[in-house]
Parts: sequence; C-alpha cells; structure tokens
Amino acid sequence: MATRPHPTPAPTPAPLRRMLDWLSPARRAQRLDERLAARRRLFDSIGELLFASRLAPSPRNYKLVHSYLSGEDVATSVAVAEALRATGTLTEAAAARIADGQETTELGPDTLARIVETLEARIGECLGAAGQSRRTAEQFGSAIEGEAARLDDDPAATIARIAALTRDAVTATRLAEAQLERTRHEADSLRRDLRQARRAAERDHLTGLPNRRALEAALRALDAGDAGDAVATVALCDIDDFKQVNDRFGHAAGDRVLRFVAGFLERELGGDVLVARHGGEEFACLFRHGDAPAAVARLDAARERLSARSLINQETGLAFDRVTFSAGVAPLGADGGAAALAEADLALYAAKHAGKNRVCAA
Ligand code: GH3
Ligand code: MG
Ligand code: MG
Repeated sequence: MATRPHPTPAPTPAPLRRMLDWLSPARRAQRLDERLAARRRLFDSIGELLFASRLAPSPRNYKLVHSYLSGEDVATSVAVAEALRATGTLTEAAAARIADGQETTELGPDTLARIVETLEARIGECLGAAGQSRRTAEQFGSAIEGEAARLDDDPAATIARIAALTRDAVTATRLAEAQLERTRHEADSLRRDLRQARRAAERDHLTGLPNRRALEAALRALDAGDAGDAVATVALCDIDDFKQVNDRFGHAAGDRVLRFVAGFLERELGGDVLVARHGGEEFACLFRHGDAPAAVARLDAARERLSARSLINQETGLAFDRVTFSAGVAPLGADGGAAALAEADLALYAAKHAGKNRVCAA
C-alpha cells in the first residue's frame, strides 16, 4: 500500500510572520505599555507647564494645557503657542481668555491663516499615513489569502478570519481617507475665504485703494529684500486745505473729492506705484522702482495736472476751488520703510510750510 507523502509545511512568509507577531500577547502587552508611557509623558508635560507658568491646577487650566500639548484643538493650540511666544509664559488672565474662547474671536487673518496651514499640514500627514496603512493592509490581506490555502485546516480557518479582518480594516481605512479628502476640500475653501477676508482687510472702503495695512505689508516685503537691489522711494501726499472742502461743500462732497484724488493718483502714477490711503486726506505712494528724484518728477507732474483741473461738484454743478496736494518724498533706505515714511512726513511738512501745492524731497 502506497503511503501518501506527508506534506512539508510551507515556510511562513515574512508578512504573515509579522502579522502573527503583531497579534501575539507579548506584543499586545508591549503596545499597551507604550500607550501608558505616552500618557504618562503627556501627564508630566502638562504638570510641568502648569507649574512653570504658576497656573493653578484647575480643571480649566488642565484642559487648556492638555489641548495645547496634545494638539487636539488646533485653535486653542495656536492661541496658547502665541501667548507663550509673546510673553514666555501663560498667565492666569491669558489662560482664562483662551479657555473662554475670547481669543478665537480676536484672531486676525494672519493667525487664522496659520491655523489653516496647521490644519492642512495635519491633514496632509493623515492622508499620507492613511495611504500608507491602506497599502500595508492590502499587502497583508493578499499575502495572508495567498498563503492560507497552503496551511492545514485549522490554521487556514484562523488565517481566513484574519484576512477578513484585514479586508474590513482596508475598507475602514478607505472610508477614513475619503473623509480626510473631504476635510481637505473644506480647508481649501476655508483658505479661499481667508484670502478674500485678507484682501478686504487691506482695502480702504471709501476710495477702494489699498490701506495703510497693505502699504505696511508692501514695505515689509521690500525691507525683507523681496525686490532685490531695486531702488525704491516713498511719498506722502496730503490734500491742501481739505477741511475747507468739507466745511464749504459738506462731508459727502469731501468724500467724493477723496475718491477722485485717489483714482487720479493711481491713474497718473501708473501700475508700478502702489498708491494707498494712509489715513484722512493723506495718500502714500510707494515707487517700487525709482529713485527719489524720479519720484519727485513724476509726482510733481501729477500735482501740476491736478492743480490745473477744475473739479465740478456733482450736487450743485458748480466748480470746487482748486484741489491741490502737497507731497514729501524720501528714498527707502537701509533703515527700512517706517523710517522712510517718517522722513517723507518731514518733507511733507516742509512743503506745507513753504506754501503748499508743491513736492519736497527729504
Ligand atoms: P492742510 O493743507 O494743512 O493739510 O490742511 P487740511 O485742512 O487739509 O488739514 P486738516 O488736518 O486741518 O484737516 C483734514 C480734514 O480732513 C479734517 C477731516 O475732517 C477731513 N477728513 C479726514 N478723513 C475724511 C473722510 O474720510 N471724508 C471726509 N469728507 N473728510 C475727511
Ligand atoms: Mg492731513
Ligand atoms: Mg490736508
């Protein structure tokens, strides 16, 4: 009688070995230990920060510091990080403000943008991790299915169950990934809203010109050397005797004159000059490419043309008195935008003093 050769057991493949190892009680205990150790570290860090900041270990402070250190609540995390960066510590007052959510309503566009960036970075990480875990799980699934058939009955059943579990895990990961994609879309639209809000925050309502904030941002960019070695110049233009326009023709007419002068300066100076409303009846011009003498010449030509015009008051059909402006010009030097504006302001003062309707260089 022929005996059937005893089947030699197939060598356990590497992914399967890893999976079985992962499921082993020893590794489960190890994972539990790791989780406990991580919690212990978090608990210690919370205590350290509370103690270093001399904060009371109240439930509110504990929750706040927990949110910050665990990164669970991004807005809180950012608010605490800002407070720590600004003052080096977290005072009871700051903690109370952040915990009450007051900080959230005071968040400026910059902070909001940082929140979104943080969120996006985190989502990016999650997507990367989810993609990775799906690939790993798929590899496990197919390896286990492939090998299951070659094992004895019992182990095969076990392995089949593991394979089923793996497939479930893959499905779950895919769902998570889809959800993360949706979150990323939400973050995208949030970022568009923020961009719009930032644009609105940098416009002057009355004239539609960039406002002082936008000017300061442009100056900061130049200070940071964004324009390379280009020569830049700033000017401050102030409408002469504007108070009289208001007094004689009314505030609404004054507003119309402001709008007109704003558009006039933009048109006359051209696209390479940033014209901003600096406040009241004062406009700032940033000549991004041009030295002070060139800026003086261009501004003076504009001043000449404006003073030769006769503006008509729409309401009455009658002409305003001549509308003129005085200007001070200063080069943007190594001391930065703020210093150049201060010099331009001094030159403007000199122009007013010398009789108005003129342009003076610093
Ligand atoms: P100077 O030639 O020395 O610059 O005299 P001025 O009258 O132009 O300067 P002053 O600072 O005495 O007055 C500026 C006026 O501008 C006073 C203020 O009411 C007016 N003003 C500021 N902002 C606005 C605005 O948005 N609309 C209107 N209509 N008037 C404004
Ligand atoms: Mg003024
Ligand atoms: Mg004025």
